[in-house]
Amino acid sequence: MSRKSGGFAKKNGVGKLTKIDKIFTAGYNKDMKRNYENEMLAQIQGLEKGTKLLLHSCCAPCSSACLERLKEWFSVTVLYYNPNVDERAEYEKRKAEQIRFLRETGWADFLDCDHDAEKFFAAVQGLEQEPERGKRCYVCYGLRLEKTAEIAKANGFSWFATTLTLSPYKNAEWLNEIGEKLAGRYGLNYLYTDFKKKGGYHRSIELSDEYGLYRQNFCGCRFSKRNG
Ligand code: SF4
Repeated sequence: MSRKSGGFAKKNGVGKLTKIDKIFTAGYNKDMKRNYENEMLAQIQGLEKGTKLLLHSCCAPCSSACLERLKEWFSVTVLYYNPNVDERAEYEKRKAEQIRFLRETGWADFLDCDHDAEKFFAAVQGLEQEPERGKRCYVCYGLRLEKTAEIAKANGFSWFATTLTLSPYKNAEWLNEIGEKLAGRYGLNYLYTDFKKKGGYHRSIELSDEYGLYRQNFCGCRFSKRNG
């Protein structure tokens, strides 16, 4: 790998929250909401079918509806990088479900990563009491997306994306803004998405039922269990 991971999170970590604080006080993109679903459709126009894309996936249920769409345009490899799921048993359970889902559908290849829970704790230190969708989540998004960009760059993927925009509990504007910045930094194409649109979230529930997927009732980190 040409660069070390975690740079985004470190730049936005404890003691250097200026950028994050600014986002919260200014109301990020409040007056200029972009339609990322339409932006995605524009991006894929004219793309050669089978273009390689590295898709960060948080879990099998969220990946299901994303992959059902993406496989029509891309040759997808799923990257399972979720250091935020800090409890080992939960992490392994989600990963096993991801692998089983891909094995049963054949919709994507799979790329594993180290667990890296210590990196997550270091990145969100001081933000433990933040609510879901708060500053801790901004850092968490950045940590996972930067690793995805880094691995995409090192392994010849020209495109990367994340399943995280499928969830109505995630901030799609932040995710896409972060992806856009990382694309510039790493010289990659980031696929803008808002996978919850067009019934995406509902479709993920249908597919989860169809494949009997484990659907967790909390986001991932131990702090999110308060809201689970
Ligand atoms: S609530 Fe979810 S997105 Fe936010 S820090 Fe925890 S695991 Fe990450």
